[in-house]
Amino acid sequence: MERILVAGAGHGGLVAGALLAKNGYDVTVIEKKKETELGYDWEDRFSLSLLCEILNCKEEELPADSWRFRGDSVFISPSKRKRVPVHFEEDDRQKIMWRKPLLQLLIQHAKQNGVKFLFETEVYSPLTSGRSVTGLLTENGEMSADLVIDAAGVFSPVRSNLPKYFHIEKMPKYGDVFYAWRAYFNKTSDVSPEEPFEVSLYHEGERGLSWVCTSRDAVDVLIGRIDKLSQKKIGETVGRYRTDHPWLGEEIVSGGKDAVIPVRRPLTLMVADGYAAVGDAAFMTMPMNGMGIDLSLNAGRLLAKTILSAETAPFSARSLWNYNRDFHILYGGEAAKNEGLKNSLLKLPSEGVDFLFEKEVIQGADLAGGGKNVQLPALLGKLKRGLNNPTYFFTVVGGLMNGSKVMKLYRSAPDAFDLQKIQRWNKEIEALDITQ
Ligand SMILES: Cc1cc2nc3c(=O)[nH]c(=O)nc-3n(C[C@H](O)[C@H](O)[C@H](O)COP(=O)(O)OP(=O)(O)OC[C@H]3O[C@@H](n4cnc5c(N)ncnc54)[C@H](O)[C@@H]3O)c2cc1C
Repeated sequence: MERILVAGAGHGGLVAGALLAKNGYDVTVIEKKKETELGYDWEDRFSLSLLCEILNCKEEELPADSWRFRGDSVFISPSKRKRVPVHFEEDDRQKIMWRKPLLQLLIQHAKQNGVKFLFETEVYSPLTSGRSVTGLLTENGEMSADLVIDAAGVFSPVRSNLPKYFHIEKMPKYGDVFYAWRAYFNKTSDVSPEEPFEVSLYHEGERGLSWVCTSRDAVDVLIGRIDKLSQKKIGETVGRYRTDHPWLGEEIVSGGKDAVIPVRRPLTLMVADGYAAVGDAAFMTMPMNGMGIDLSLNAGRLLAKTILSAETAPFSARSLWNYNRDFHILYGGEAAKNEGLKNSLLKLPSEGVDFLFEKEVIQGADLAGGGKNVQLPALLGKLKRGLNNPTYFFTVVGGLMNGSKVMKLYRSAPDAFDLQKIQRWNKEIEALDITQ
């Protein structure tokens, strides 16, 4: 039986592994953490209906205490002068779910389908022969495989140790990741703000965002920056939040951890003979808001379907390229476009972001979808308002235009796996320079 190793219990790897094991492959997930330590102690927004499609269950069957609706949000400009509320209709309210039960459901599902797990086992690097990945070097020694699915997250030791001639990008650059710290604090009085979820862009004049979200019994604080965070900075920022939100207690009841989120376009090339990357290992998030769970679940499903529908050599780069190309057509192009907007906003000084808010160049509807709703024609419709400061306005227009061009390129990835063509395609994308 052909053997598949999944490096890391990332969401996409668990989904792909379950489908492949169900269809007769010998699948083993190798995860460095203990099973009980997997996932963060916080809630995330993603599509619960997609999760249920994958688990083949109804939303009502999900554990009732694992998810809830989140209240309306308000975006606050850097100067704090402008607040832009974002209201969600009753049938479109955002659902959030605790990360640990999400991972437990995916692991249970994978086990039920025959996936084996090696917890508390660290992966060190890929094993390669020529241009093929042939297994993994783990802390317990070498393990050979016909396919390695890389689901080991943003700093995957598999991806980053692939030889250069695989032409797969190894590490994120400055600005490609977001350093986050998140904790739920106790709530010291019984308040329920009308807009419980406050998101501050360029919070305290720094490149990134922070949020404070007051729920029934806790206050969720996230501090995210393009530059690394120090404990001192985190303590000071939380302290200032406490001044404006006197109900924000001192005790951390959940979370209180650092984490890193990729906020850049997905890898252009993410497959090789015997290798495919999914999820954060392939930088699959929406760069404006760092949401990657849906993309990761979808990628895992697409990867498995591609393998199962291959007529010959399902683990060859030629077959796996179909997954790579289809991912970009379906999702990667959209994420790459979103990076154009994110990078243009990061190019602006905080006064520039204030300007966009104050002149209503960016409005609630634009912010509701994490920047997905900011469309070039609509932005150009605001030309008159933007012309008060053309530099700021056209920086964002330029970001959206470049993002749209990159999206088109992602969606016209070469039809077949041809390294030379792929390198030329990649160069065209890089030439558009949507980086900072
Ligand atoms: C603060 C924060 C908030 C977020 N909020 C949201 C949200 O609301 N919605 C959303 O969609 N996304 C959110 N994200 C992003 C989301 O977490 C990721 O995009 C998503 O989890 C996909 O990542 P992944 O499963 O591929 O990788 P990961 O979740 O990073 O999983 C990788 C796994 O590989 C394991 N691993 C790593 N290295 C090794 C090794 N050497 N050997 C063995 N195992 C290894 C890790 O232990 C981990 O279990 C958030 C992220 C953060 C940090």
